[in-house]
Amino acid sequence: MIDEHLKQLTISTSIKATVNVEKRSKSRPEQLLTMDISQFSDLADTESQASVCQNCGLCRARTTVVFADGNPEAKLMIIGEGPGQTEDEIGLPFVGRAGKLLDKILAAVQIDRQKDTYICNIVKCRPPQNRVPTKEEAAACKPYLMAQIAFVKPAIILLAGSTAVQYTLQLNQPISKIRGKWFDYCGAQAMPIFHPSYLLRNESKEPGSPKWLMWQDIKQVKQKLVAL
Ligand code: SF4
Repeated sequence: MIDEHLKQLTISTSIKATVNVEKRSKSRPEQLLTMDISQFSDLADTESQASVCQNCGLCRARTTVVFADGNPEAKLMIIGEGPGQTEDEIGLPFVGRAGKLLDKILAAVQIDRQKDTYICNIVKCRPPQNRVPTKEEAAACKPYLMAQIAFVKPAIILLAGSTAVQYTLQLNQPISKIRGKWFDYCGAQAMPIFHPSYLLRNESKEPGSPKWLMWQDIKQVKQKLVAL
């Protein structure tokens, strides 16, 4: 059944994108794209507009707008919090130590970052001192994220860390309580996972440890990907 909310998704050249989002919505998603993103004609246009964006104060200290990395055709999207120092300098998300760990975790289940994933963040500009983006900053940047989801049309979305969960699913529960669970989000199946930077601070691989739990989660993700 097509959700009424989908009708609110308006993209200028978007009839095709809307249909594709609907196709992926086998079980009716509770939260679909409800934001008007008609100002973006496609993913390249979204990136181009983001690259000069001054819609929030984060534009003042940024070196680069960090839009995304990976394959826009990928079935798996990974959404993190925001760029850190290395990302801000290089212009790509998840390229620092945490990013390298993420690459390793993905590779352990034969998921290739460049080929099989599309990676982006809640905010595209680095918050000073890597602080958590404010509600206002996340809201100002949300049209870009919504457009990314609409144009990439992922089947699976991984929400890395509590900030990504909070500003998408609007859940404030600790990540340890909701990681590994599946939620409907924007026509995709979304799973909260630990942020890789949290795993860097928790070295143990004992059963029940964050790294061990991440391993269980990523195996689930792989199974779902294979079954698509
Ligand atoms: S964080 Fe997002 S909304 Fe804020 S200036 Fe950067 S691109 Fe624009």
